[in-house]
Amino acid sequence: MGTKGTNSETRILLYYRFTPVADPTAVMLWQRTLCESLGLRGRIIISRHGINGTVGGSLTGVKQYIRRTREYPGFHDMEFKWSAGSSEDFPKLSVKVRDEIVSFGAAGELQVDENGVVGGGTHLSPAEVNDLVERKRGTGDDVVFFDGRNAMEAQIGRFKDAVVPDVDTTHDFIRELDSGKYDDLKDRPVVTYCTGGIRCEVLSSLMRNRGFTDVYQIDGGIVRYGEQFGDTGLWEGSLYVFDKRMHMEFSEDAVSLGACVHCGTATNTFHNCANGDCREMVLLCGTCASTPSTAHCGAEACAQVCAAAVS
Ligand SMILES: [Zn+2]
Ligand SMILES: [Zn+2]
Repeated sequence: MGTKGTNSETRILLYYRFTPVADPTAVMLWQRTLCESLGLRGRIIISRHGINGTVGGSLTGVKQYIRRTREYPGFHDMEFKWSAGSSEDFPKLSVKVRDEIVSFGAAGELQVDENGVVGGGTHLSPAEVNDLVERKRGTGDDVVFFDGRNAMEAQIGRFKDAVVPDVDTTHDFIRELDSGKYDDLKDRPVVTYCTGGIRCEVLSSLMRNRGFTDVYQIDGGIVRYGEQFGDTGLWEGSLYVFDKRMHMEFSEDAVSLGACVHCGTATNTFHNCANGDCREMVLLCGTCASTPSTAHCGAEACAQVCAAAVS
C-alpha cells in the first residue's frame, strides 16, 4: 500500500466472491465473530452462492480480516478493493444470510462453482473492451453497451450510446429481459457493465440463459475502467456511488449528463423528493433543491404536497 504505519490509519474494504457456500449460516456466524473481534463495522451478505461485503476499521484490523477470510477455501482467491474510510462510515456491523448476494430474484436460476458464476459473460479488461469496440466498429455488428444498474444511476453517467433498461432495482431485470424489448441484441456483441462488476456477474448469466449469444462483462466494472481510462475512453459522465458522496468523476474533464428535472440546469446531484411519502431520488440543481416549492421529483402529487407546504 505504500503508506506509513501509524496506528490511527483506517481503511474500507470492498469485496465479493461467487463460490458455493455449503453452510451459509456457519460462515455468517464465523464472519460476525471475526469482525467483532477486529473491531470492524459494515455490511456483509452471505448466500449459498458466495459473499458480498464492505467493512471498515483500523489498517491492522482489515489486514487481519483479509488474511483470516482467505482461509476459507472458496474465498482464497478473493480480491479486496481498498478504499479510504473507517468503521465510522458504517452505522453498525451487519452480517446476514440471504437468498442472493445481489438481489435479482434469481436465486433458483443462478449457478456457481469454484470458478464463479457458471455461464456468465466473457470477462474483459478495460483495454480489451476498447479493443472489442474497435474491432467490431463498422462491421454492422457494432458493440452494444448494456447498463446493468438502476436506470437512475445512468442519468449522470453511462458508456457511449449505452442501452439503459427501465429498471428501478435489480429485481426488474428479469421482467425487462423477458419483455422482448432487447431481442434484437441477442445476436449482437453486448458488453454489460455496472459499478464494480458484481451485478454483471449475475446479469450476464441471466442474459445468456435467455438467448443472448455474445455477452461480455467488464472486469472490475466502471470503477476499474475509469481508473484506467478516466474520461478519455468510452465512459461518459459521472459515476453514481452508494455513499454520502453520491457521485464521483474520473477527471476534471468529465462531461455533465445530468439535468435538473425542473429547470434543465446541468447537475450531477440527486436529492430525495421533499414529499416524505415519495422519497424518489431526483436530479435537482442547487436552486431548485433549496426552494421549497421545487424540492420535489416532478410528479403531480409531490408538486401539490410541496405547494401546500409553502402556502
Ligand atoms: Zn433547477
Ligand atoms: Zn416525489
